[in-house]
Order: sequence, then C-alpha cells, then structure tokens
Amino acid sequence: MKFHTVIIGGGLAGLVSGISLQKAGKSTAIISNGQNALHFFSGSFETLEEVPQRMVDLLEEAGIRTHYQPGVRLMPLGTFRPAALSLEDISLFPTPRFGKKVLIVTFRGYHDFFSSFLAEGLEKQGMTCRIHPLDLPQLEWLEQSPSEMRSVQIARTMDRIWEVVVQEVRILLKDEDTVVLPQVFGLQDTSVPGRIRQGIPAQVVFAGTLPPSVPGIRTQMLLKRRYELLGGTYLMGDEATTAHVHDGVVHSIVTKNLDSHFLEADHFILASGGFFSKGLKSNPFRIHEPVFGLDVEQAPDRNDWYHPEFMSDQPYLSYGVKTDAGLHPLQAGAPMKNLYAVGSILGGTRPEMGSAAGLAIRSALTAVDQILNQPNA
Ligand SMILES: Cc1cc2nc3c(=O)[nH]c(=O)nc-3n(C[C@H](O)[C@H](O)[C@H](O)COP(=O)(O)OP(=O)(O)OC[C@H]3O[C@@H](n4cnc5c(N)ncnc54)[C@H](O)[C@@H]3O)c2cc1C
Repeated sequence: MKFHTVIIGGGLAGLVSGISLQKAGKSTAIISNGQNALHFFSGSFETLEEVPQRMVDLLEEAGIRTHYQPGVRLMPLGTFRPAALSLEDISLFPTPRFGKKVLIVTFRGYHDFFSSFLAEGLEKQGMTCRIHPLDLPQLEWLEQSPSEMRSVQIARTMDRIWEVVVQEVRILLKDEDTVVLPQVFGLQDTSVPGRIRQGIPAQVVFAGTLPPSVPGIRTQMLLKRRYELLGGTYLMGDEATTAHVHDGVVHSIVTKNLDSHFLEADHFILASGGFFSKGLKSNPFRIHEPVFGLDVEQAPDRNDWYHPEFMSDQPYLSYGVKTDAGLHPLQAGAPMKNLYAVGSILGGTRPEMGSAAGLAIRSALTAVDQILNQPNA
C-alpha cells in the first residue's frame, strides 16, 4: 500500500498532520496504537499564547469550537491553572474568584468527581459553596456496578437526559450566582453544554473529573472523523513495529496487523508520543525509540533521569528524540531524510516550539509545511 505520507501515532500531533496533508490533497495513513493523551485532555491547549489561525480553522472545520481568553481555569481538585485557548465549554476567568455563592452539583454514587475538594478550593478563594448530589433514576443501572459509574458512561446517558439535569438544578438553585457541574456533557452532541448554560439562570462552570476526559474524547472523535471525511486512512489498533530504511531514507513501515503488507510512502511522520504512549521506552540502561532506533537526548547516568522528590521537575520528561533544524530525527548522528518527528516524542528538545498541546500543534504544522514545500511534493 502506497501513500504520500504515513503517520505513526493518531493523537493530537498525528491527527493535525494528517488533516493538514489531506486538506492539501495528499493521501495519508495514520497508524494508531490506541489511547493517547487526548483521552486525558483538560480542554485547554497549553503553551499556545499565540494561536496559529490555521489551527483554529482546523479545529472549527472539525466541529471543535474554542475560545481564547488568557486567564485561569478551574482544575478538578479546586485549584486554578493559567489557560488561554480552550474548548468552548471550558470556562476561563480573569481571576480565580469567579463568583460569590456556588452550587456544586454531582450525581449520587459518582466517585470520579471531587465535589468536596472543589468546595474547599473555591472557599479558599472566598466563595461560599453548597454541594448537592442529584438522585437520577436514569443512572441507577450504572450504580449497580461501580466500574460502570465512570465519566464516559455517564456522559452517554447525559446526552439524552441533560434537560432533566437542567430542571433539577433550576429547582435546587436558591441565591447562588454560579453552578458547578461535572464535565460529563456533550460527548456526542456538542451543543449540549451551551444549551445547559442557556437553561440555567446562573453562571455554569463545568469542572474536570477523573479520566477519561469527556471533552478530550470528544475532541479525539471529532478530529478523527474530520480526518476520515477528508479521505484519510486511520488504521485503528495497529502498531508500527519496524521500518525499512536505506541511506537515511525510510521506504516502508511494518505493522503488527498488516503482516507482510508494508506501508510505503514518500514521507513519514513520527507522532508516537512520549513515555506515556510508548513512543519512548526505557530499560535499566537507556531510553530508546522503538520503531527506528533514533538518537534520544538523555542523561548518560540513569540516576540523573529522575529527581528523587516526586513533585519536582522530572528530567526524564524533557528527554526526546534528537532532530535537526527541520525536525528530521537523527539516527546514529545523521538526519533521516524523509522522516519528521512531531509532538511529545520531542520532549523538551525543541523549547522554541513550547510544550504540551502547543508543541504537538506547532511541530505538526512545521513538518507539514516542510513536506508540502518540497519540489514535486
Ligand atoms: C495524561 C496527559 C494529559 C495531558 N493533558 C494535557 C492538557 O490538558 N493540555 C495540554 O495542552 N497538553 C496536555 N498533555 C500533553 C500532551 O502530551 C499533548 O497535549 C498532546 O496531546 C500530545 O500529543 P501527541 O500526538 O504528541 O502524543 P500522544 O497523544 O501521546 O499520541 C501518541 C499516539 O501514538 C501511538 N503510538 C505510539 N507508538 C506507536 C506505534 N509504534 N505504532 C502506532 N501507534 C503508536 C500511541 O498509542 C498514541 O495513541 C497531556 C499529556 C498527558 C500524558
């Protein structure tokens, strides 16, 4: 099977690359091994202080509405974190004190939403909080098994019964100016968070839950759908195992499922993520990149990989594949000619591109530009 570009990894960086190339009329395939960081996404695209307009367009065309307002956002445990470009349902505030009286609504039997921590955090900011767990008969079937009472299962039900929640909250509201609800709305129907805001006569803030993240899964689904609508081939559940490389040029990729059929292309993008997604792996002696055996930036002594104090900055998180100025990764010191490394597999090796989602987006767009600017691209 021959494509213009083959992409390894179907997270944010892989999907941004794939969508951009498909939009430019190029045939691509994404090999995606499974869960990625978007499944844990807070809803805020970090380190995007200056947002590339093409990224906002790309998200909008996929049906992902965002807003941009530098400020802070509420975290699942009641703390606040700086944020700017965020999904539309994530509230951004100029200061952490976003209300005076807050009603925090949860669902009875739902343990993945930390209403008490939220109340404690908001009270530290001078807000008064009241917590009310709703008894919803529509969720009783989930309560029978604690493993089912999770954000995604609840979100599936909420797409159908959100109006009941609005009715219940309207009855509950006394003199509160703000209602905090768990972020379990709009998994399939993206209009639901906005309609809830219209239906409740108070400011509505959606607060994060334990993973998986409902807005993150929604973002992943919409990007994947957009990619496939543009004609991209998304090989779900497959894994790139090795590559055929000669003189620094990648010819094809071998995957677990395609057996003896190799994926050939003119260009290749490595968007396989960091340690979290197994784009980087380690053993007691070294940190390595498993598909191509690329050079990885790392401290030579294993004892320097981590800081013994857990909450300190951990050096291993900054490790990533080494690249030249054009994002071509190095193999035994020499750049691979038609391979580009994008997203969190770069770790902190390209600080000018930021980190987190900012790194994924900036590096993906840079690699795509490099590919498209080549003669006979
Ligand atoms: C838990 C967590 C939460 C985060 N939350 C945020 C947030 O809220 N905001 C933010 O800005 N940033 C966040 N980040 C940072 C995040 O890394 C980036 O935002 C971005 O989503 C990373 O995208 P990526 O595509 O580079 O990598 P990933 O999302 O890690 O995707 C890599 C994909 O490649 C696949 N893969 C790996 N090896 C292979 C192979 N051999 N063959 C096929 N597929 C393969 C993996 O299975 C995975 O699906 C978070 C990171 C983590 C780990």
